[in-house]
Amino acid sequence: PSSADDPHAVLSSAVNAPLVGGGEIGYAALDYAASAPVLRRVWDEVAAYAPHYGSVHRGAGHLSRLSTELFERARATVAAFLDCRPDDRLLFTRSTTDSLNLLAAALPAGTRVFVFESEHHAALLPWARHGHRVDCLPTPRDPEQAVREVGSALAAAPEGPRLLCVTGASNVTGELWPVRELAAVAHRHGARIVLDAAQLVPHRPVSVADWDVDWLAFSGHKLYAPFGSGVLAGRADWLDAAAPYLAGGGATRVVAADPAEGVRVTWAEDEARHEAGSPNVIGAVAIAAACRALTEGAGYGALEARERELLSALRAGLAALPAVRELALFGPESERVAVVSFTVRGWESEALARTLSDRYGIGVRSGMFCAQPLVRRLLDADGPADDCGGALQAVRVSFGAGTPREHIDRLLAALAELTR
Ligand code: PMP
Repeated sequence: PSSADDPHAVLSSAVNAPLVGGGEIGYAALDYAASAPVLRRVWDEVAAYAPHYGSVHRGAGHLSRLSTELFERARATVAAFLDCRPDDRLLFTRSTTDSLNLLAAALPAGTRVFVFESEHHAALLPWARHGHRVDCLPTPRDPEQAVREVGSALAAAPEGPRLLCVTGASNVTGELWPVRELAAVAHRHGARIVLDAAQLVPHRPVSVADWDVDWLAFSGHKLYAPFGSGVLAGRADWLDAAAPYLAGGGATRVVAADPAEGVRVTWAEDEARHEAGSPNVIGAVAIAAACRALTEGAGYGALEARERELLSALRAGLAALPAVRELALFGPESERVAVVSFTVRGWESEALARTLSDRYGIGVRSGMFCAQPLVRRLLDADGPADDCGGALQAVRVSFGAGTPREHIDRLLAALAELTR
């Protein structure tokens, strides 16, 4: 690659280049939407902290106090990154999936949950698990229709606690959803909204306060941090009123054991309530480091400009290949992040992805991307589909910080060759 395409040259002033992702061996890792490579800066911060860790909130020892301070500082950093309201809770979880399951467990009994069928399974499935009725809204044709559908569904629903769960950016098409408008319509009807920001925060700054979303969830491993940490941030009231997500040490204020009465407990009323057990301090430190990398200096601005340039090259290249059909919810002109899915005539998606990897050193994802109803809809197919077998699948390309132009060019050249 030329120096202009060198990720270190392009992004080092704003976002340090990824540490891993196969760059060293020339592998083109184009599956950032599944898990992004770890930024060098994140890795360095973790490495600096890792040898010194002690248990959080548990001791007066030096290392324990250091860990507690780093953990709580990470919480404040992430809250600032998300632009939370001052009285919001910010919980460290394992992932977006974990965050949404935590919220599902914390909803008042009898909450009705509204979701578009186009959501990721992590946003579709947790609610019914906890006994909440789920109203599935049809995939909208455009953002305005999404807002109208929510408005009419909420207007028709009976009084009582209601929640809209919606993604900020589709993990299949990369398209952006009208989050502010959806929050406004939800609130107009007395409902609340949780934003699945798993695919949004790696590409765009967000604002919980300004967009007026009640909760927001995301995962560290899609935001240039390692696996195992995620975030749920938002309104304290329902979280504080709910039973703790996990029962155990750290989530309690007073525990009394009585031979006659059994074990009695008074639970904590702050973040600790839902963070029982020894927390993932390294994960929290890593997420906070990633948040700082994206917001300090040019940060998101540089990343977004770079992604836009590569995305238009990629999409123009795909459009020039007659066998390739790009998937879109709202249409080709809609605003999107660096995530593109497509089918290729004559190729089964899994076989294509394997060929791209084995023959060209390009890593993409194939399948239904944990969004089976949406992928089925976009492929114009009805009926049950097997996630692992057959034609009802697509290929997804996604990228971000550190992706050189050469990776996009290599993919387009490979597709041209394979569809000739
Ligand atoms: N929501 C969206 C939109 C996603 O893309 C993903 C990850 N593919 C998730 C939720 C779940 O994230 P995790 O696997 O980190 O829990």
